[in-house]
Amino acid sequence: MQNNGSPKNTLIANIEHIKNLNSATIYKIIEKNAPISRVTISKISQLAPASVTKITRQLLEKKLITETARQASTGGRCAISLAPNSSAFNMLCIKIGQKKLLLTCYDLAGHKNQQTQIDISQKSGDKLLQILLNSINVCIEHQQQHHKKISAISITLSGLIDPKNGHIIYTPNNKLDDLPLVKILEEKFQIPSFIGNHTRSLALAEYYFGASKNSEDSILISINNGVGSGIIIQGKLLLGKNYNIGEIGHIQVNPAGNKCHCGHFGCLETEVSDPIILNKVKQAILQGGLSSLNLKDLNIERVYQAAANNDPLCQKIVADATIYLGKIISILINMLNPEKVIISGKIIRADKTLFRILKQCIEHQTLPNFQRAVLIEPTQLQDNPTLPAFSLIKQAIYEGDLLQKIKAS
Ligand SMILES: [Zn+2]
Repeated sequence: MQNNGSPKNTLIANIEHIKNLNSATIYKIIEKNAPISRVTISKISQLAPASVTKITRQLLEKKLITETARQASTGGRCAISLAPNSSAFNMLCIKIGQKKLLLTCYDLAGHKNQQTQIDISQKSGDKLLQILLNSINVCIEHQQQHHKKISAISITLSGLIDPKNGHIIYTPNNKLDDLPLVKILEEKFQIPSFIGNHTRSLALAEYYFGASKNSEDSILISINNGVGSGIIIQGKLLLGKNYNIGEIGHIQVNPAGNKCHCGHFGCLETEVSDPIILNKVKQAILQGGLSSLNLKDLNIERVYQAAANNDPLCQKIVADATIYLGKIISILINMLNPEKVIISGKIIRADKTLFRILKQCIEHQTLPNFQRAVLIEPTQLQDNPTLPAFSLIKQAIYEGDLLQKIKAS
């Protein structure tokens, strides 16, 4: 609803917002407890039975939920229960990576029904945008052939993203800077669309579906070509007014370190990232260091695996990098007192070398009460690169906005 700022319009906008939140609360309760009766929904939500009846009617009209008959435990009468109608909705979820464009169709329960992968290693800017729009079109047509339609589109990528206004501000890899992507998508396809930073959205995905599912406060640390984090506090993803919360990669950890692409020296990213660690192993082998690996088939997966298998050279290099990472994670634990810290990236293959050192750092650098409360674990979503985009859709449903816009197949 357009709000021109007058008191009356502000009041209408607020009432509309509360209605959306109530719908979202009821949808969430049904999703979590299905099959569930209206009476039980009213008890859990503490909303009046008349409101529950009205909202569930709207959700039924939108086909977001269905009625299921359930035999009552006493007597012969059937109580009508409600359940989500997840299979009636198709969500197109996309990850724009550095080399690959991944597109997956999910139903609302998170089941995949179509997946496509496109090589974009030589593509950026306008060319990449064209490939993106064409591939979305192909997915929409494919669904139409099966008499289905896409109810929402969601995209995650690296960089500085303004999810509220659907704007890409800056991308380190894809040259899609200053791009109103959501506006472009919604004008072209007439489908509600969302975008978000990949690491922040991954933190949300871990909270909804993965390692931090039952933790209200968690931190996700992602190590790939750089280092980033996503912070969830009281079940909410922290973004801040400028959407930058979690940019830990440019905290200085080694004043005598190398120059970073940001212009400063010794940033965390100059000591911990897949390319940096790979290069250090390469240099050490070239200088005659003893390792089970050889230069011919050297790659980062092998380096982390060798560290896990007690290769002394790889173990030492991964351990040195982990000490820097452990310092920053300890600062985050002291600041935010999380229940869980989740580590994502190929580095988790280094297994004990990584987690043993991180635990040592936390033991020596955080408050005793905080370290007793925190668990440090690997991601559970390593093989699911489009699930972070799906999480943005779930978030929009749980916050009520998408429930109003969504249309079933
Ligand atoms: Zn930097």
